[in-house]
Amino acid sequence: MANSALKTVGENVRQLLSELPPGVELVAAAKGARPEEVLEAVGAGVKIIGESYVQEAERHYQAVGNKARWHLIGHLQKNKVKKAVALFDMIESLDSLEIAREIDKQCARLGKTMPVLIEVNSGREKQKSGVLPEQVEPLAGELSALPNIKVMGLMTIGPRSANPEDYRPCFAETRQLFEKLGKLDLPGVEMKYLSMGMSASYTVAIEEGANLVRIGTKIFGER
Ligand SMILES: *Cc1c(COP(=O)(O)O)cnc(C)c1O
Repeated sequence: MANSALKTVGENVRQLLSELPPGVELVAAAKGARPEEVLEAVGAGVKIIGESYVQEAERHYQAVGNKARWHLIGHLQKNKVKKAVALFDMIESLDSLEIAREIDKQCARLGKTMPVLIEVNSGREKQKSGVLPEQVEPLAGELSALPNIKVMGLMTIGPRSANPEDYRPCFAETRQLFEKLGKLDLPGVEMKYLSMGMSASYTVAIEEGANLVRIGTKIFGER
């Protein structure tokens, strides 16, 4: 990690992209990054920017625009849904029916369908957002009825740890849920994306089936 701090954002991106196996897409988690750094990451080959906050996303968007796709990866509040729906190409952090209904409503106004991932609180942590594993299937069933939302997979963070192996059980459980939901063939639900893994955990996440990895520190350094 100390090593990556000495490299440029562009070098970090090219290194990561050369290491990721085919079929795994990089989401550059841009919280705390300067707009020029986000632009540099895109110049080096990043196709998807992951944003934790709607306001920060708007600042980054001003510099980068449609040269990348934009994923929301942070908790969404109801009063930000209107802006989020206008800006993002995917909401990876959907964690309640209430927010989903608001997304559906705002998307209907724009004539847009929003791809979403359900965020799973796979570590069952009290303060973490996301729905508990046993609540994912009932929620997917309810989302299936919302015409302007398309469920396209699951996202999870897992309990923070310095040891990547600590993430494995949470990633494995999320992957099992992902496969189970896929077999249900719910209308408006297509289990395509499994978003798991950050700088400290993406290698294990890929072993456990992730096809989207959200990486911040390894690209932009400690912020
Ligand atoms: C910050 C963040 C990341 C990236 O974490 P790093 O440890 O900096 O790679 C990934 N996912 C979410 C939801 C985040 O908030």
